[in-house]
Amino acid sequence: MYERSAELFRVAQEFIAGGVSRNTLLREPHPIYAARGSGCRIIDVDGVERIDYSNNMAALIHGHCHPAIVAALADQLGRGTAFTMATEQEIDFARHLCGRSPTFERVRFVNSGTEAVMAALKAARAFTGRARFAKVEGTYHGAYDYAEVSQSPGPQNWGRPDRPASVPLAVGTPGSVLHDVVVLPFNDPADAIAILDEQRDEISCVLLDPMPHRLGLVQAEESYVAALREWTRRNGALLVFDEVITYRTEVGGMQARYEAEPDLTALGKIIGGGLPVGALAGRQAVMAVFTSVGGPPRLPHSGTFSANPLTMTAGLAAMSLFDEESVERLNALGGRARAGLEEAISTAGVSACVTGTGSLFRIHLRANPPRDYRSLFLTPEAATTLRLFIDGLYDSGIVMIHTGTGALSTPMEQADIDRLAEATLASLRRIKPRLLAGESASDPRDGS
Ligand code: PMP
Repeated sequence: MYERSAELFRVAQEFIAGGVSRNTLLREPHPIYAARGSGCRIIDVDGVERIDYSNNMAALIHGHCHPAIVAALADQLGRGTAFTMATEQEIDFARHLCGRSPTFERVRFVNSGTEAVMAALKAARAFTGRARFAKVEGTYHGAYDYAEVSQSPGPQNWGRPDRPASVPLAVGTPGSVLHDVVVLPFNDPADAIAILDEQRDEISCVLLDPMPHRLGLVQAEESYVAALREWTRRNGALLVFDEVITYRTEVGGMQARYEAEPDLTALGKIIGGGLPVGALAGRQAVMAVFTSVGGPPRLPHSGTFSANPLTMTAGLAAMSLFDEESVERLNALGGRARAGLEEAISTAGVSACVTGTGSLFRIHLRANPPRDYRSLFLTPEAATTLRLFIDGLYDSGIVMIHTGTGALSTPMEQADIDRLAEATLASLRRIKPRLLAGESASDPRDGS
């Protein structure tokens, strides 16, 4: 079933360090190689067709090769891909995005979510003149050194729950980086504020993903967001949302569901219409750090391919299609997917649960949803069980993100949801003996 992929990976390792340029794609015993995609389906190099619930890590809101995006791109391709000149396409897309959320008064484009978060952190520093910032333990915000701090700590180094340590991800991370990143517990306003209070004059911003994927797609509680908003306002710091994944949950992003408004928002993934993208959007007063008025800007900022007309064109086409009606339809389908998965879990008679909202879901092989990064931390046995579960889905024609997360795309229909539920039931049945043996998919802290 996977011969050609196995062969390609053998060759790849002779030329590409580690075999692929994205560790996310690694699977045992080798990655699967895609040949082509259409709508919500991918065909791999061995000719196997699957329904795509990974959508390039939740980046493709319209699946593959949406005809309107392909046509818009083809038209732009014939007119040039990038210039050392500004383009009207950038203005058109910026106007569109600013129209989607009241907090997006000005925008600035980059080429990845990593860069969007980097620009956000640097903008917060430039605006406040402060070097440090705070983030939630275990969250993924891309590959900027600072954003990587405490992305993957473990029990051996994560420290006290009420005072999480700043833990490096990569070997050789400078100590100064660790010092400048303050790590907060998730959904615990009292401890988070106590930590922030200890460095009240040094924090430029608090960076928050309203539903962090690596914390199990569990939503930030209203009271937590409100406490962080109140603290940042009172102490001259900014509140920055990372909506690189969550932006798809509402026309204006997941922030529309909270009373508190962020000063800045990092965007990426779906807004590129399938092409590499990132954007920083926010209050005009803060975004003014990018502006030169009679002198250099507080934050000089460029990028050879930033706001290239291909990405702007694809992004505008994709986001124009993802209007109120389209978001509502997809969110309703997401609700049916979560319900279908819960039914499959109950039919299989195993301890598992589903988190997520809108068009995002995540299956957990444990009775109760995790509360935070620590409560999600998998034992090696649980990680193996999860891997076998995902493998089972692949074998039944479903492509999922390796963590058990899925992201819907607009070409999907009820029949695709039914296929997901059926494949989940089959895969759960396959791993049921492991789950029952308690070998164990449930974390020891499960249910506590
Ligand atoms: N922030 C979040 C919440 C993300 O999920 C990701 C990517 N998975 C990023 C930032 C980084 O985006 P990119 O991979 O485009 O650099």
